[in-house]
Amino acid sequence: MQEAETLWQSVLGQIQLMVSPANFATWFGGTKITEVTEEKIIISVPNTFVKEWLEQKYHKTILKIIKSLKPQVKDIEYRVEKTEVKSPKIQKEKIPETQLKILELEINGKTGLNPKYTFANFVVGSFNELAFAAAQAIVNSPGQIYNPLFVYGGVGLGKTHLLQAIGNEILRTYPKLNVRYFQVNKLVSDIINAIQNKKIEKFKDSFQNIDVLILDDIQFLAGKEKTQEEFFYIFNSLYEKNRQIVLSSDRPPKAIPSLAERLRSRFEGGMIVDISLPDYETRMAILKVKSQEKGVFLSEEILNYIASNIKTNIRELEGALNILVAYTKLQNKDIDFKTAKVLLKNLISPVPKVSNFKRVIEVVAEFYEIDEKLLLSNSRRKEIVKPRQVAMYILREDLKYSFPYIAQKFNGKDHTTVIHAWTKIGKELENNENLSEEIRQIRARLFEVQI
Ligand code: ADP
Ligand code: MG
Repeated sequence: MQEAETLWQSVLGQIQLMVSPANFATWFGGTKITEVTEEKIIISVPNTFVKEWLEQKYHKTILKIIKSLKPQVKDIEYRVEKTEVKSPKIQKEKIPETQLKILELEINGKTGLNPKYTFANFVVGSFNELAFAAAQAIVNSPGQIYNPLFVYGGVGLGKTHLLQAIGNEILRTYPKLNVRYFQVNKLVSDIINAIQNKKIEKFKDSFQNIDVLILDDIQFLAGKEKTQEEFFYIFNSLYEKNRQIVLSSDRPPKAIPSLAERLRSRFEGGMIVDISLPDYETRMAILKVKSQEKGVFLSEEILNYIASNIKTNIRELEGALNILVAYTKLQNKDIDFKTAKVLLKNLISPVPKVSNFKRVIEVVAEFYEIDEKLLLSNSRRKEIVKPRQVAMYILREDLKYSFPYIAQKFNGKDHTTVIHAWTKIGKELENNENLSEEIRQIRARLFEVQI
């Protein structure tokens, strides 16, 4: 079944790039390939709900991906795995709360840490060296130098990897310390549950003996007032005891909307470091390290092709690699450049799947009937400033570019200018219908070909 597993992991790897994490966990958690015959593949799923959903919504995509890896396959069948049902009495077809099995495969139940994330396999370049240095300093003396450490950066750039590595390294160095890693969206729902069940005091107490508290994606606290209150209590009691706290976010504390002022100032009270975008050399280095890890040789030409085309997300770099690795293993031979290009065409298309920077500038300039050059300039004229802020907003909100990256593209502005633009437009959208409509129109033009 080695082949089945490799094949399915590779399919999942590609699907993960197309759907949101929540959708991925809901529909693909707990699935696996149970049988591979010459022309048919059987996929086991945890319940009929998932079965129907996959058949109706994802079948075409799954089949297409499988065919790209194993052309002889003609059909897929989804089967409900009966053994998964634990209590026969409650056989109601309810979606299990979390079907995160795949994602949690190796995760330690107590610490929440996944041992696969280490410093050793974290590639360091100028885009993340400050964050890396701060992380190392913390491992050397937890709770004593930077508290909290606040790491921010765009999607897929290594925040989770770095935070997890901090936890793993601390445990390796001081096995007695109580290290705990949490995803903040999960923590938020735990806090809400605890409040509802009147167990919040007990819940908060359970944090008291933690030595190192690692919280990933803290932006999920945005707008959740009551949760923030309870969270502040947990944070503070550990902070006052000099316990190490490490936080990550997709944006700096200033740009987290509706965050209680006292939390914001706590977050800003330690060390703030950002992870920006890896340059070409670093992207090549990452590809080399990862292909070696996976035990597959890929030519310089292929690696260069990937590194030149995928620039803003390390997870996607890895996704591309996984597709080629799966193919190589299944076919049992090295891959040539032409085949690699064909396999990667879903990921790297000549016409961008979603819009890129240039396209946003074109469309926004065209929409407001101004010159592209002016849009990118430093002009303070009112009729230019607003479109510029809209462009920045879309680049951040929809394309997920990092603030420093956007700032640099706009005539080397300071990244706080971009944060300001993004916050301002975001706020205005709440009660300015004209602006909402403008942005809706612009988005329609930008994303008409979106998947
Ligand atoms: P984020 O949490 O910022 O969205 P992740 O930490 O999940 O990003 O990183 C996405 C993927 O890229 C992971 O598989 C991770 O191991 C890998 N990755 C990110 N940064 C690096 C790096 N500097 N070196 C090696 N792998 C990296
Ligand atoms: Mg993450």
